[in-house]
Amino acid sequence: MTGADRRDTPLAAHIKARIVRDGPITVAQYIKACLQDPQHGYYAKRGIGQDFVTAPEISQVFGELIGLWAVVVWQQMGQPRPIVLVELGPGNGTMMRDMLRAARGAPDFLRTAEVCLVETSASLAARQLELLRDAGVPLHAYSSIDDVPPGATIVIGNEFLDALPAHQYVRSQAAWHERTVGLGGDGGLQFGFGSPAPADVLRRFPDAREGDIVQVHHEFEEIAAWMEKCAANAPIAALFIDYGHTASASGDTLEAVRAHRHEHPLTSPGEADLTVHVDFESMARDFGGRGTLGVDGPLTQAEFLGALGIAERASRLMSANPAQANAIEMGVQRLMAPQAMGTRFKAVGIRSRGLPALPGLTTERP
Ligand code: SAH
Repeated sequence: MTGADRRDTPLAAHIKARIVRDGPITVAQYIKACLQDPQHGYYAKRGIGQDFVTAPEISQVFGELIGLWAVVVWQQMGQPRPIVLVELGPGNGTMMRDMLRAARGAPDFLRTAEVCLVETSASLAARQLELLRDAGVPLHAYSSIDDVPPGATIVIGNEFLDALPAHQYVRSQAAWHERTVGLGGDGGLQFGFGSPAPADVLRRFPDAREGDIVQVHHEFEEIAAWMEKCAANAPIAALFIDYGHTASASGDTLEAVRAHRHEHPLTSPGEADLTVHVDFESMARDFGGRGTLGVDGPLTQAEFLGALGIAERASRLMSANPAQANAIEMGVQRLMAPQAMGTRFKAVGIRSRGLPALPGLTTERP
């Protein structure tokens, strides 16, 4: 695909020089450079809310419900002490702040929680520590999940998975090839295709046709391996909320957003947010295919928040803050909107097999 209105960002110059030196890069390498480059990457410079807005920034009720969810999960685990509370990609830190505020109703939980913030962006990590400084719990900052200390663990990640570098593959007549970013005749960035894809891509998308594009988050397998390692020694539960599709399907979902507008993914390297939809069917296989982990969901965000009692919590909050009632109601409506956030976003739980189904993530109704 051409047609990118290409801007001369500082990162574009770096990427082009790299391609001239080493040849085309994979889409996954392109995404990683755009989002995580320590100097020119998107998250090195931008805060959450400047180009796109996430659920915790829309309504405090979101993080509060997830805080209460974490308390119930801890109780289901048998109240292990300490409990390691890990957030992957905390952005501005807003969700953890709201979670911890709601968890004040469970002082035993707060007394024993060790909060671990896993963040690749140095500037966002600093922002998170600043916001959470007075939260009254021990805070630890890491740049990789592998550094999180072992123990009973609850992991949460909102819009984290979609920010991980996904590989894209293009189906040709006989085989899959990795989608790449190289240089066009005019010297601008351009998509192409390179090496043959690993064999499991064919297995994941048996019905794809010539010309189809699919994406695979190979990093999910690393997170699953980490969780499995943890589960061997202590209970672990994770909640991921992200947008994506419940069943594996082909179709290019690489998207760029800058200043709340969509643009071509090659237009503004490092200055637009890039995301790839989460393929929850593949994800369930990556995690659930392991003997020690079980998968609950995915359910839509509206179903999940509904099951956690969003309506009741919002109305209590509105009665306590009549001046903000309108804003609270609007925020909650946005999180729950059918055909929008309420259904595009899904919640999925992963847990040690010995634990009961995670709260709000079972379709069985009592
Ligand atoms: N959870 C926040 C932010 C979502 S944006 C919210 O809902 O508002 C994605 C976040 O993940 C950013 O903080 C980004 O810097 C971080 N991130 C991206 N890749 C990461 C990785 N590999 N490891 C840790 N954090 C990462």
